Amino acid sequence: MDLEILQGEGGKVVADCAFCRGKGTDPFRLLSKISLCQVCGGRKEITVPAPAIRCAFCGGTGIHRHQRLSCDVCGGKGIVGIKAPVETCPDCKGKGVVSGDYLPCLKCKGTGVVTKK
Ligand SMILES: [Zn+2]
Ligand SMILES: [Zn+2]
Ligand SMILES: [Zn+2]
Repeated sequence: MDLEILQGEGGKVVADCAFCRGKGTDPFRLLSKISLCQVCGGRKEITVPAPAIRCAFCGGTGIHRHQRLSCDVCGGKGIVGIKAPVETCPDCKGKGVVSGDYLPCLKCKGTGVVTKK
């Protein structure tokens, strides 16, 4: 697996909000058509501490694998802050999920990587 590590600037990574795809509105329109995105609060972009990687559990979409909710692992941001240096999680092989494909991997908490010892 190619691991792309986002270094960001000034200790943080700013990216388009994955959950709403940078639109700022709730992608599922659960509350109303004009609901603000619950993840970015309508700001359209999100910030996580650097370095960060694409969330393995949701594949960077910010959307929960099985429900119309924000991803448990990245909180809907699509990227997660990590503690470098990291390596691919040996338990889930970087997929971020345990067998059965439902719950986040416990070892890497769904990020797909673990901090190198
Ligand atoms: Zn958003
Ligand atoms: Zn995620
Ligand atoms: Zn894992």
